Amino acid sequence: MKKIYFDNAATTRVKDKVVESMLPYFTEIYGNPSSVHGIGRDAKRALDTQRAAIAEMLGAKPREIFFTASGSEADNWAIKGVAGANAKKGKHIITSSIEHHAVLHTCKFLEGRGYEVTYLPVDSYGKVSVKDLEDAIRKDTILITIMHANNEIGTIQPIAEIGEIAKSKKIPFHTDAVQTVGTIPVNVNDLNVDMLSLSGHKIHAPKGIGVLYARSGRVGDNLLHGGAQESNKRAGTENIPYIVGLSTAMQMALENMELNTTRTKAMRDDIISFVMKNIDYVRLNGHPVDRLPGNVNISFEFVEGESLLLMLDMKGICASSGSACTSGSLDPSHVLLATGLTHEIAHGSVRFSLSDENTNEEVKYLKEVLPGILKTLRNISPLYNERKVR
Ligand SMILES: *Cc1c(COP(=O)(O)O)cnc(C)c1O
Repeated sequence: MKKIYFDNAATTRVKDKVVESMLPYFTEIYGNPSSVHGIGRDAKRALDTQRAAIAEMLGAKPREIFFTASGSEADNWAIKGVAGANAKKGKHIITSSIEHHAVLHTCKFLEGRGYEVTYLPVDSYGKVSVKDLEDAIRKDTILITIMHANNEIGTIQPIAEIGEIAKSKKIPFHTDAVQTVGTIPVNVNDLNVDMLSLSGHKIHAPKGIGVLYARSGRVGDNLLHGGAQESNKRAGTENIPYIVGLSTAMQMALENMELNTTRTKAMRDDIISFVMKNIDYVRLNGHPVDRLPGNVNISFEFVEGESLLLMLDMKGICASSGSACTSGSLDPSHVLLATGLTHEIAHGSVRFSLSDENTNEEVKYLKEVLPGILKTLRNISPLYNERKVR
């Protein structure tokens, strides 16, 4: 059976052109960029070129780009680095309650080390209030970290506005832009951010490559110690093939962004309006407008999200019950709970995340099979049957 992949917020297929661009750097230009000989210098040249290209795509300078092994590493480094370097100034950090675990668990870790963290609430659409943020700032606040767009519900935060406030108070501001780079315009100056994390595998590059952007002078303590790579800030021989792949994927995403956004949004809105019109007891999670072009997140009452996923899988459709990191555990998503959902309704939530590789035919197929699956599941739900009688 042909698989239909609607789980692009978890990871994406690596594009053929991205693989092609990487191949020579495994077998021909395989040198260590720190070596003085020709093969090393060729690798160094590729590293410099791609660093400059990625910097330009983000509106940054090449020396502000630090390659990491993942988005999680970039988030960890941004937060622990600034926390460590500023511990004498203060120990207060502001974040939101709907961050990715790479940010949330890092903040929790720091709480155990004597830091104080304010977790800003969100409204029912998953938005942080700029006023709440302003009120949370203290004399000892040393870092604000708020994600650009949420991976589960797709809500886009007012990052430029928050950045304006952070700038006026001279507080370092980090954003996790893993879900937005390559999807919507991301420019570090327009967004007023000091630090930004991105990851390759969410934009059709391989898993295991990320970037921490850090405005000059803003990068904190090292996360890794050793060699002098990444301006002495992140040791480890550079992963040239993956860096090349990331750069290729970013370029492809930027070149096609307008077209991709239009196409993806149309498919997203098609699914949402179909479900709202044809299926009862449903709720759209996330913001109706300020939303990632490919994100659909819907709660189906009287249904277990996991059962729905399994039945979709049997029809060849890959979706997710929230974030890949929370499924596998029985705890409902912290993001959905933060938007005010009850545990029960949160458990019946499914995310379909689309990319430019999805097609209208795939959406049509989903619309054909979804109502039948829900009917089957709800027919065996005592609660649903009681509700219908009432
Ligand atoms: C996927 C994701 C991450 C983690 O990136 P990895 O490269 O998988 O470590 C961090 N933040 C968000 C918002 C994500 O979607």
